[in-house]
Amino acid sequence: MQIEFLGTGGAMAIPRPLCQCDICKEGREKGLPYSRSGPSVFIHGPNVLIDTPEDSYMQLNRSRISNIDGVFYSHWHPDHVMGRRVLESMNADWINHPAKGTTTDVYLPEQVAIDFQTRLGTAEHLAFFDSQKYISLHELSDGDKVSLNGVTITPFRLSEDYVYAFLFEGEGKRILIAPDELFGWEPPELGELDVAVLPTGVCEFHPITGERQISADHPVLKEEATFRQTLEIIEKLQVKEVFLTHIEEPDQLSFDDLKQVENTLLQNKKISFAFDTLIVDLT
Ligand SMILES: [Zn+2]
Ligand SMILES: [Zn+2]
Repeated sequence: MQIEFLGTGGAMAIPRPLCQCDICKEGREKGLPYSRSGPSVFIHGPNVLIDTPEDSYMQLNRSRISNIDGVFYSHWHPDHVMGRRVLESMNADWINHPAKGTTTDVYLPEQVAIDFQTRLGTAEHLAFFDSQKYISLHELSDGDKVSLNGVTITPFRLSEDYVYAFLFEGEGKRILIAPDELFGWEPPELGELDVAVLPTGVCEFHPITGERQISADHPVLKEEATFRQTLEIIEKLQVKEVFLTHIEEPDQLSFDDLKQVENTLLQNKKISFAFDTLIVDLT
């Protein structure tokens, strides 16, 4: 398997439109790896796309992906679904009648399917794609596994139980992908993992200076895991290598800052920050 990081930004990608902060100016001027588009990852082998942020069109065009065998959604939040019309762009045939388009399999974990019914019009939009045969929609029940190209994919709920992480097992490797929302998560027994992809968490304290960046009574701390909490979770995982993603613009950390942070992190596990277009080869 290979993990291709399509987008490593968070709900606020870098650069933010119109923003003149140093982080956004740098992202705009230098591009990769200083810019970060919306959160999405692709696993080569099973050929699985996880989530479709607004940047999906651009991300898929610049990627090495030639075929998608399954799209999985982690949760209903807009930064993970609002690029969903890419499913139409990939598959629709507007020339022939009857159409000779292609169909992409889309898998919705149990709670994601429920939330899509009431959030952002996503269920209605995907049902239209399904009716046009742009996609084939599969609703999963908790505990269901999907096998694609010899790799088994198991979605499971996090502590924020409307959000799913995914365990990929195959080709002699085990990979955990948790796109977002680790708040309150106590990792279950997942066994030995080769790689974990986790959201960075918000920086309550600046990871280099230690200065408080978010006031202690800020409501975000009651719903988002902090970077320090994420490091505690990593300590509990049996994992060889961790890639952190979902890096938020409001945390105001540049690619170079994050390189500096990497040097201060636990030495017993390899932890690094992913960047857009990074490919991790596990073959
Ligand atoms: Zn998100
Ligand atoms: Zn900015």
